[in-house]
Amino acid sequence: MSAELIDGKLIAASIKDELKEKVANLMAQGITPGLAVILVGDNSASQVYVNNKKKACEYIGIKSFSYELPATTKEAELLELIEALNGDQTIHGILVQLPLPKHMDEQKIILKINPTKDVDGFHPQNVGALSIGLEGFVSCTPAGVIQLLKRSHIDIAGKQCVVVGRSNIVGKPVSMLLLREHATVTICHSRTKDLTAVLRQADIIIAAVGIPKFIHGTMLKQGAVVIDVGINRDETGKLCGDVDFESCALQASYITPVPGGVGPMTIAMLMYNCVLAATNQGGII
Ligand code: NDP
Repeated sequence: MSAELIDGKLIAASIKDELKEKVANLMAQGITPGLAVILVGDNSASQVYVNNKKKACEYIGIKSFSYELPATTKEAELLELIEALNGDQTIHGILVQLPLPKHMDEQKIILKINPTKDVDGFHPQNVGALSIGLEGFVSCTPAGVIQLLKRSHIDIAGKQCVVVGRSNIVGKPVSMLLLREHATVTICHSRTKDLTAVLRQADIIIAAVGIPKFIHGTMLKQGAVVIDVGINRDETGKLCGDVDFESCALQASYITPVPGGVGPMTIAMLMYNCVLAATNQGGII
């Protein structure tokens, strides 16, 4: 392997330690950051994510309030709960774990969250703010990708960045963030013609495709930086990314592993957003 490994666990741990200090300062000023985590139904993967978020809150000093609702909960009941949390001054951030059961309209639920408490950064007001360069919450996985690059001292300005995937939660916001960092950004998707030709131009590749080991080393130029957002299972059931790690590591200058790359950063950036929300709502500059 010639590539240097970008250790997401280590970078996430240092972000969490920085946040722990910030929370101690907030507490000294009488503010305890509060995060409401709402889980509807018994999706086991969601339960794991929610538990990891609670653990991170505990470590940093954020008070987490858990709302575990049955899958049969009516949409109106969930909307009512969000309404109450919007008005609760001890709650600075509200997170609704997705996916929601099929009878609920996710967009309607996200719209209900007060944008100043939308720590997932999914509310259209925050998405719009990102695209026109205003302050707002940036969704956690894309923000984590940028932190991985910056904290590994990888220059983004002027670089050819290729994002593979155009979803609302990863591909599009990460593209906007790279643009904000002055990269030249190309977004690829399932209709892209000759993906390999596009990838070969890339200095930095962000893979968010959702297909195990989709990007192979032969598709990269020598020295490219590879950030793998994917979380998949391979044919043996082992966790893997959207990048074929072995072959890409031979070509790349830097690469993230799966697990231990982008994954831990998502939670660290959620914690960052919670602390930001508490700081903003506490009127602290
Ligand atoms: P989506 O399924 O919403 O989007 C996948 C994107 O990949 C789409 O834009 C799709 O194009 C594109 N795509 C599909 N096939 C191809 C192809 N053959 N060539 C080029 N592009 C293609 O996935 P998400 O963005 O939600 O997630 C992507 C991955 O990231 C998943 O593995 C997911 O598990 C992981 N993930 C990880 C997180 C973390 O914390 N680390 C958080 C969120 C997601 P089109 O739009 O044309 O259909």
